Amino acid sequence: MLEVSNLWFSYRRVPALRGISFDVRESEVVALVGPNGAGKSTTMKVVSGLLPADRGTVHLDGGDIDRLSPEQIARLGVSLVPEGRHVFTRLSVRENLELGTVMGRADSRHWNGVLDHFPFLRGRFDTPAAKLSGGEQQQLVIARALLTRPRLLLLDEPSLGLGPKIVDLIYDILAELRAGGLTLLIVEQSLDRVLDVADRIYVMRSGEIALSGASADLKDSAGLHRAYFGIEAAGSAA
Ligand code: ATP
Repeated sequence: MLEVSNLWFSYRRVPALRGISFDVRESEVVALVGPNGAGKSTTMKVVSGLLPADRGTVHLDGGDIDRLSPEQIARLGVSLVPEGRHVFTRLSVRENLELGTVMGRADSRHWNGVLDHFPFLRGRFDTPAAKLSGGEQQQLVIARALLTRPRLLLLDEPSLGLGPKIVDLIYDILAELRAGGLTLLIVEQSLDRVLDVADRIYVMRSGEIALSGASADLKDSAGLHRAYFGIEAAGSAA
């Protein structure tokens, strides 16, 4: 469904992405993991059209999308949940959710389907979003993105700054979405949770893909931790 090839991007001539390639197949959950500054968020921004690639291609269903605007990419069914819980704090929960329906794709059946994943929202429609906890705001942002009826949902660090219980809840919801057949691309710094939900993992370091493979194969491998932490394999240093 999504195919990224040889993608380069620099911030004022400092490369953040150095020729990365990866793909996400239909109904698959793929995670980009890696330490701070590896280039994960930059990748999400280029894929969703917020930053222009310097070089390389981004294909969705075989069509070139790397010169399209964020709105055009969203209309093709790609929705980004950015890092940092972007709720509109002065708006109510309902108004925040309605912003997800501007493309006119959500009917009442779809509203109900989305709210089934986030039951607490039903009783909080008139609450100002500012009054929600961090974990509730994160769920609101994911619900809003789902109301656009995405075919591909991009999630940038959905667990950032949240306590372990709420992170478990968010990952339970992602597992439900996965079971429903939604295609997900998740960026995370922490490996633990994402290894359970993702089919495949790409480890990023310094703007490159250091390692990739099926989660099941990488889960307990020393290679995964070496790639993540940048530790040279024994004997490879000389
Ligand atoms: P994090 O987990 O901290 O968000 P990341 O893997 O998402 O890390 P990016 O945010 O994509 O990494 O950053 C990649 C590189 O680009 C880093 O060296 C970062 O300092 C740099 N960078 C990111 N945003 C900007 C910006 N707006 N201007 C200049 N440099 C930037």
